[in-house]
Amino acid sequence: MKRPDERAFVRLPALAEQATTLEKCVFCPKLCRSACPVSNAEPRETLTPWGKMSMAYFMARGDVPLEKDFAATAWACTGCKACAKTCEHDNDVAGTLHKTRAELFTRGYAPEGANEVAAGFREHQASYAARTAAHQKANAKTALVVGCAYGEAETADAVAAAEALLGEPVTAISQCCGRPLRSAGDEKAFQENAAAFVRNIAPYTRVVVVDAGCAETLMRHYPVPVGGELLLQVAHRQLARLRPLPGAFELGLRFHDPCSLGRGLGVYEAPRDVLTQLAGLAPGEFMYARDRAACSGGGALLPVTMPEVAARIAETRVKEHEAEGGGTIVTACGSSLRMFRKAGAKAVDLVTLLRRSTDEPLP
Ligand code: SF4
Ligand code: SF4
Repeated sequence: MKRPDERAFVRLPALAEQATTLEKCVFCPKLCRSACPVSNAEPRETLTPWGKMSMAYFMARGDVPLEKDFAATAWACTGCKACAKTCEHDNDVAGTLHKTRAELFTRGYAPEGANEVAAGFREHQASYAARTAAHQKANAKTALVVGCAYGEAETADAVAAAEALLGEPVTAISQCCGRPLRSAGDEKAFQENAAAFVRNIAPYTRVVVVDAGCAETLMRHYPVPVGGELLLQVAHRQLARLRPLPGAFELGLRFHDPCSLGRGLGVYEAPRDVLTQLAGLAPGEFMYARDRAACSGGGALLPVTMPEVAARIAETRVKEHEAEGGGTIVTACGSSLRMFRKAGAKAVDLVTLLRRSTDEPLP
């Protein structure tokens, strides 16, 4: 009998490229187990980062059959990358599980929720286009990527804040970046959408992104990263011009680091500096913050594939927020905003605070 490390990846050959990453987890004493929001909310060994990576490894090599129940573990991940921050190897669990999703999706083993997201993407796209229709400007040179997880109010706030900060008209891009397709595992459709998106923004001289998840997708996951900046960073460059918000102190602002913004893009100080300028004092912090921040539960389609677990993750964050004194959670991520509000918290997006600060012409 061949030694385990000599057996080929016969069932999911594309994962052979991830052999070292997978084996680091398979033979690890699970040092990151307390970091995973999914296995913390649903304490099952197979849902720890170790369990999910081991299952991907065993499926790839044919040690366990390709079955939907086993395959579902690849979707039991928010892509938060918290495990990598506690891992001695900085092991890319989120990226490897995404690749596993893609391999399983093409073979028909994706969970129903993921299949529905992929099949319904055209409809999703149409509803996003309708939401942004009022914010198209024929003469704009700047493309604003707001993000499909935001509602109409935050979309309007984003356009108004961007125009005030840039001092010129912007047009809201009406196409979704395709993050839901990537999370579903439909890599082919994701790549096609990415190519169309790049063509769509080509006429613009500048790309500004509002949602942290969209920014991570465009700048980290597109085959050729899109050069752009976050609206948050545009505001940060003009910190002294931002008008302090009356009453912001009373809101008791506490900043939650979106996983895509912090661990995804390495942006930690800019939102805190902007909030300090707007509120006149530094925002409150969660018990776990910056690169150790805990996920809201809203990432990588977890609210679709495991809705109860996603809700429990958000409820845990809200309890932590209340234990620290409550107030208003501030985020910079449409998915987190939804999760916190659904869990009963008072939550606001940074873009709404920026819009309020820029309601009147800036100095
Ligand atoms: S991510 Fe790192 S710490 Fe966690 S199981 Fe894998 S190798 Fe071990
Ligand atoms: S990326 Fe986040 S959700 Fe996924 S396995 Fe790691 S800690 Fe868990």
